[in-house]
Amino acid sequence: MSGRIFTGDELTEDRVVTCDVCVVGSGAGGGVLAHELVRRGLDVVMLEEGGYRTRRDFDLKEATAYPAMYQELANRATDDLAISILQGRTVGGGTTVNWCASFRTPPEILQRWRDVHGVKGLDEATLAPHWDWLEERLHIRDWPIERANRNNQLLWEGLGKLGYSRGTVKRNVKACAALGACGLGCPTDAKQSMLVTLIPDAVEQGMRLFANVSARKLELEGMRVTAVHADVLDPRTDRPSGRRLTVKAKVTAVCGGAINSPALLLRSGLTARGRVGKRLFLHPVVVSTGRFRERVEAFYGAPLTVYSREFIDRGPGKLGWLLEVPPIHPVLASVTMPGFGAAHQEMMEQLPYANALISITLDGVQPGDEGGTVALRGEREYSRVKVEYPLTDFHWEGFREALKVSARLQFAAGAEQVLSPHSSPVVMRSEQDVGLLDRAPYAPLLCRVASAHQMGGCAMGGSAKTSVVDSTLRYWDADNLFVVDGSVFPTALGVNPMETILGLAHWGSQHVAAAVGGRV
Ligand SMILES: Cc1cc2nc3c(=O)[nH]c(=O)nc-3n(C[C@H](O)[C@H](O)[C@H](O)COP(=O)(O)OP(=O)(O)OC[C@H]3O[C@@H](n4cnc5c(N)ncnc54)[C@H](O)[C@@H]3O)c2cc1C
Ligand code: SF4
Repeated sequence: MSGRIFTGDELTEDRVVTCDVCVVGSGAGGGVLAHELVRRGLDVVMLEEGGYRTRRDFDLKEATAYPAMYQELANRATDDLAISILQGRTVGGGTTVNWCASFRTPPEILQRWRDVHGVKGLDEATLAPHWDWLEERLHIRDWPIERANRNNQLLWEGLGKLGYSRGTVKRNVKACAALGACGLGCPTDAKQSMLVTLIPDAVEQGMRLFANVSARKLELEGMRVTAVHADVLDPRTDRPSGRRLTVKAKVTAVCGGAINSPALLLRSGLTARGRVGKRLFLHPVVVSTGRFRERVEAFYGAPLTVYSREFIDRGPGKLGWLLEVPPIHPVLASVTMPGFGAAHQEMMEQLPYANALISITLDGVQPGDEGGTVALRGEREYSRVKVEYPLTDFHWEGFREALKVSARLQFAAGAEQVLSPHSSPVVMRSEQDVGLLDRAPYAPLLCRVASAHQMGGCAMGGSAKTSVVDSTLRYWDADNLFVVDGSVFPTALGVNPMETILGLAHWGSQHVAAAVGGRV
């Protein structure tokens, strides 16, 4: 039986559909989960509030991609605007716009989830067959250093010169032309995102996918979800068209990602005794910009292919970080790189010579580091979400030290100038200037911070008192409600999160299937 993809403009009247499982969200978690449920013969309906865009729509332009395929037109940020948040919103979710880096979960993180958060039955050995399957299906392979673009090679060389550990990154690509446009949607379908892999597989086997449909509220009777109430959005304006879709499913899986999943539960009056929306982790990132004499052209080539975890564990009470590079396209550069007026203009003119290093800090693993929160701004159904993330001395110390390491690495690789991410950037012309970073201001808005990895908000754990879902991803207080996405992480990871979410969903699908009525 073949399924179908419906878009908002085809849904011209209110509709009620029934199915075995309603999957809300089509990203890393939802894509894998839906595929696994359909494979087991279940009738699945998937809702995705973003649009159905494919390679024909991916025109390599930032001006098209960010408003069309990112949450809040790529302007999502914490309430105080101190952290800008890039997050996907399109069929395939983050997997359609992400940079392809694929890491299995570090074993020490899974161990922490077990020992500190009481998660049961989720260890490396259990997850290994799920990752094996995904790595085969999504063609996750090493991207050797010989194929790295200059931006990544500079990190590799800097790490080598200073004697730090370094590695190459696995990527979920097939016949990748190294265009560098991963963040704008892959125009050749080389990126093995959910959009081109498991979602089409699932549709072919019978899944119905409704794009431009935003789940607003779950209706409950006692311990069971009885309906998902959703708005049909007009694909041209992205605003509610006035039509409603109601899904009546035996089981509902919320897969809207960290931030949106807790928001949907909160809109539905589900708070898990105050735990929903807590423990939000952002992997807060600081960017160090180096200028080189040679052309780096960090807008071309596979974007993210070298990493170092040398500084991931700095000991108790200290924030550690993962080192990588981002692609540097003009719009992304203009909003993440420092400076103002003429200085900013000069930096933009020098873009082909720029290299950026990102320090992705590992939050949620130090005592007392509870991360941020997701709440609703008001009682109204369309109230925006409010994301708060307090940055404390603990974070600023980590950012400062990370920027010092980045600057040293960039000088070791041959940079003639390094700029810090401060609103008045620290300008360093040689390694001797790195100490200037100690005197710079470290405070919200004075030093730019960003996030492309959102995790937590519906934490998994061993007790209903401290978590939102149990170790089978089931919402503690409802029999037929699951959360299957990055929001269930009890901590951040210290590596890019996609493969952990894919693996978790592949493993968790057995529990969701069992809840439908025994078919595992
Ligand atoms: C620019 C960028 C680069 C990245 N690079 C990497 C990388 O290289 N490697 C890596 O591992 N990770 C990367 N990530 C992160 C990774 O893509 C995400 O962590 C991952 O996709 C999250 O999966 P998820 O299932 O939790 O949510 P998502 O993939 O975000 O999927 C959630 C989906 O649900 C939809 N949705 C939300 N609420 C509703 C609702 N109420 N109704 C209907 N639909 C809803 C959203 O629109 C979205 O499409 C990157 C992210 C970005 C933005
Ligand atoms: S780098 Fe490869 S995967 Fe990324 S957009 Fe280009 S062709 Fe697609």
